[in-house]
Amino acid sequence: AKEDGKNTYHFYTKEMTEQAYNRLLMENNLRDALDNQQFELYYQPQVDITTNRIVGFEALVRWNHEQKGIIPPDHFIPLAEETGLIIPLGKQIIDMASQTISEWHRANLTRARMAINVSAKQLRDNRFFHNLNTALSKNNCQSDWVEIEITESSVMQDPELAIQLLSKLRRKGITISIDDFGTGYSSLAYLKKLPITKVKIDRSFVSNLPQDKDDAEITKAIISMSQSLNLDIIAEGIETQEQQDFVLQEGCQLIQGYYYSRPLTKQAMTEKLESIRLR
Ligand code: C2E
Ligand code: CA
Ligand code: CA
Ligand code: CA
Repeated sequence: AKEDGKNTYHFYTKEMTEQAYNRLLMENNLRDALDNQQFELYYQPQVDITTNRIVGFEALVRWNHEQKGIIPPDHFIPLAEETGLIIPLGKQIIDMASQTISEWHRANLTRARMAINVSAKQLRDNRFFHNLNTALSKNNCQSDWVEIEITESSVMQDPELAIQLLSKLRRKGITISIDDFGTGYSSLAYLKKLPITKVKIDRSFVSNLPQDKDDAEITKAIISMSQSLNLDIIAEGIETQEQQDFVLQEGCQLIQGYYYSRPLTKQAMTEKLESIRLR
């Protein structure tokens, strides 16, 4: 509905296409879900295959919908971005993720970092740094237990601003990982200027390895480039032994993907960590 008075609401609603109406419904549902804490984080381990140790986790959000069940992030993150709801949602995500990693560290279940996805709009929100600090102190979470995952394209929206913010995070001890690398158009020159620590090879390059020659070449190039810039490198979306062997042979020893583990609920991941410790 347009913001020109409450009386016109019905008029515009009738005129709307079904699609726009569904969007509005979905937006309202998102707001309710935020109020009712219907978002849940799943955790996927990142593993060093040379030691078989978990060296990190990625927090991945899901919407626990009363009727529809579990809704994947691709179905609501874009709308949350467009409507600005990603700001309060992002705050809840950071809060939950820092609480979880803090609990795991304090229970001696891990020494790994929690990687948290941060969207373009969140990065541009001038309260982001403050909100992050608030969440970390509230949850007794050290900054060096946290990693921020940003996409190449969200950095490129305003590189100067991104560099400033990312430098502030780095000074606090938070590491920065570049997600979806290679899918955008950023130059190597920019990557060098960014205070980042890690590059993730996008699943779109990994999924057709080792058969696809182009993807194999791109993967090799990203690995060797990261090595020459002294950046950590991780391959996401590893589903098979062959994919894992390929990236390891090319010099990438950190992996994340269904082959090692799907994203797990907090409960399930806690149990997995307990069973590893007890081994
Ligand atoms: P992403 O950041 O690139 O996350 C990786 C996606 O690949 C996740 O999908 C993960 O479950 C999936 N994945 C991991 N290993 C495998 C594998 O071996 N095979 C296949 N086929 N998929 C694998 P998910 O959880 O559905 O998330 C989709 C996207 O939604 C994420 O892509 C990210 O862009 C966004 N997202 C997820 N959680 C958050 C969040 O907390 N905040 C924000 N802003 N975005 C999020
Ligand atoms: Ca990610
Ligand atoms: Ca990705
Ligand atoms: Ca190809």
